Amino acid sequence: MPRPGFPRTFEGFRRQFAGEEDCWLFLVESRWPEGFRCPACSSGEAWTLPRRALFECRSCRRQTSVTAGTILHRTRLPLSLWFAAAYLVTTHTPGFSALQLQRQLGLTRYETAFVLLHKLRRAMRRPERDRIAGTVEVDEAHVGGVDSRQRGGRQRDSNKSIMVGAVEVKGQRSGRLRLAVVPDLSADSLAGFVQTAVEPGSIVLTDAWQGYASLRKAYHHRPVTVGKPTNASKHLPHIHRTFSNFKTWLKGTHHGVGPKHLPSYVDELVFRFNRRQTPMAAFQSLLGLTGQHQPTTYKMLYAPETTG
Ligand SMILES: [Zn+2]
Repeated sequence: MPRPGFPRTFEGFRRQFAGEEDCWLFLVESRWPEGFRCPACSSGEAWTLPRRALFECRSCRRQTSVTAGTILHRTRLPLSLWFAAAYLVTTHTPGFSALQLQRQLGLTRYETAFVLLHKLRRAMRRPERDRIAGTVEVDEAHVGGVDSRQRGGRQRDSNKSIMVGAVEVKGQRSGRLRLAVVPDLSADSLAGFVQTAVEPGSIVLTDAWQGYASLRKAYHHRPVTVGKPTNASKHLPHIHRTFSNFKTWLKGTHHGVGPKHLPSYVDELVFRFNRRQTPMAAFQSLLGLTGQHQPTTYKMLYAPETTG
């Protein structure tokens, strides 16, 4: 996947992707970095039919859709509008409302902004599949709900959901992040989360809660006795910084989120967090331009609707 420079300003972005042609070229370069090849006969000679977002092979006449498997497939909206919306959603870290998007893009219809935003955010809400590794901090936090009064210890607050998180420690910095909403503080929930989120053999730092005890089987588990809950941020600083950013984001942008929607926001945060240093990668992911090497997406490229 090529990673061209990412424009620093919306103004610069609009210049770079001013017309449909610019967007089309970017799309093609993102999907076929080595240049287009016909999936049927491997010929590199093809006509482009930009208006229908198709390549037509000069040897076998096979038509291949450029947008199949991406968020842009069969859209009636201009590519440049999608691109602009994806840029704003990528760069505006605290998140965007449909109304803000409508204003920024100068759209007459609120519904258009709503649809754009909905689809772009859905692209963020797929859980990350691979496991993080190395030295990892793990802990849980109570989040969401309306009443934000803190309670210590492991007591369950019925207003709140339990979030468990794992983050890679890279010196002072944090590496990749995984988060999940879990039903309780049992070993099934907590150690179970670690097993799906963290590579076996990693060094896992937790507090001394028994829910983590079974981790010693597959990990270098280093439980630390935290004592008072307020000490946790000192012993596990990376994951606690993430929790507190998440809570601020939920409160500030979304004014509290109920249990039903929380998992979606958790996935969105993880998406943003893991791509905070690589905005171009985030932008391409939002448009669905990554992962075309995966069999399912690859198949979609040659789906029946691309012929005839
Ligand atoms: Zn061909």
